Amino acid sequence: MSKFHSTVSRRDFMKGLGLAGAGLGAAGLAAPAFHDMDDVMSSATAEIKHPWYVKKLELEKPTVEIDWTIFERFDRTIKFTSRKYREGQGDVSVKYMQDLFPDYKGPSLRDLALANASSASSKGRVSPKFDGSMEGVNIPTPASQDMVKWQGTPEENLRTLRSAFRFFGASDVAVVELTANTRKLIYKNNGKKPYSYKDADIPEETATEFIIPNKTKYVVFFSTLEATKQAMQAPAPTWSGYDHYNRVTNRVHYFLGALGYQHIEAGGISTSNSFAALSGVAEHSRAGHIATSYKYGNMLRGMHRIITDMELMPTNPIDAGIAKFCETCKTCSERCPYECMDMGEKSWTHWDAEAESTKNYVPGFKGWRTNVIYCQFCKNCHAQCPFNAADDAVVHEFVRATSAITPVFDGFFATMHKSFGYGTRNPNDWWETDVPIGRWDPAFIKP
Ligand code: SF4
Ligand code: SF4
Repeated sequence: MSKFHSTVSRRDFMKGLGLAGAGLGAAGLAAPAFHDMDDVMSSATAEIKHPWYVKKLELEKPTVEIDWTIFERFDRTIKFTSRKYREGQGDVSVKYMQDLFPDYKGPSLRDLALANASSASSKGRVSPKFDGSMEGVNIPTPASQDMVKWQGTPEENLRTLRSAFRFFGASDVAVVELTANTRKLIYKNNGKKPYSYKDADIPEETATEFIIPNKTKYVVFFSTLEATKQAMQAPAPTWSGYDHYNRVTNRVHYFLGALGYQHIEAGGISTSNSFAALSGVAEHSRAGHIATSYKYGNMLRGMHRIITDMELMPTNPIDAGIAKFCETCKTCSERCPYECMDMGEKSWTHWDAEAESTKNYVPGFKGWRTNVIYCQFCKNCHAQCPFNAADDAVVHEFVRATSAITPVFDGFFATMHKSFGYGTRNPNDWWETDVPIGRWDPAFIKP
């Protein structure tokens, strides 16, 4: 297939993605260079290649048990998600570090300058609207470039998106088809305005509703990595993972639009972890607000959703033994300074009385739930997971391989992880460490 060979608009196309000119930056570190769409097409297969210990499961049946008859679309008129501190607790993030590392005095001016600079581009970012358009960005259509719409088979299209999104800086790319069941993953409303599935040509926000065309049948899901060293050892609180995530999201919207497809922004209208579990990018885990990857542990910061009318091959949920491992490993929840993570067994309801009384959670699955209104994004749960691919990779490989087969060793590995002192590092030492180029330790760069 050679429908896209052209140099006519390549420079403009790359410029729109923010990749022309001064080099490719962080995205170029982990990705091959493509010359045109045929290069993109030939670079990968659509099937996600998992290692031997990962079982491929049936569509819509991830390791988290779901009852689709009670699963409901999230109702934002009666539920809230804004963050707050627990009564009488306040900001304990510095105290938490001082308990671990008594010589830590809190962020210095240098630490704060580093943290704020590393998330600077998202401060003035171009946020995609509901229909995927971005103010000040002119996404060309195929017609405006005098070209035909890109058309491939569902499998070819997934290969194309996976190669392109990886090039933009995504780590995994997968697909969930919107069926009668999975449509429930899209929130019911935003304030008073419902999200309505309708026979329409294009997505639209009207005075009374958000219209999702019935022909947009697929959710393309992609993840982006946390800045790994910063998540484990940041000398000051940082949002740098979002900075990268936002850049990739904008490039992805541009790409889908330029190929001639709808690209509805679904990041704010659905939960990330549900799509992670159903698409096979991760498993539902005790870190219920993240979802845990056998490749990247809890280091996935961005988990984005875009609804499109491009025909795509759905990807299967997986069982890498993570959810089973979490039953005995409580490392992340034990080390949450704000006590907002689930310490108990999987449940159909919320462990936290306040969240249960307000019904501030999505019903219909048996799992672990975080009380997100008390989460302060301190990243300790991201840094602690034994599945993180950082130092001591051999141990992690062994944990992954063994826990996928039998839970017998899980308690041992979770304890060993604590004894070895993985996870949160002394922030004082950050300036003295070998800082990886860009954002990611080499162990996190995976095919
Ligand atoms: S980021 Fe994780 S560890 Fe920190 S408050 Fe939130 S849930 Fe707890
Ligand atoms: S730290 Fe342990 S309990 Fe938490 S997500 Fe990772 S494996 Fe599961």
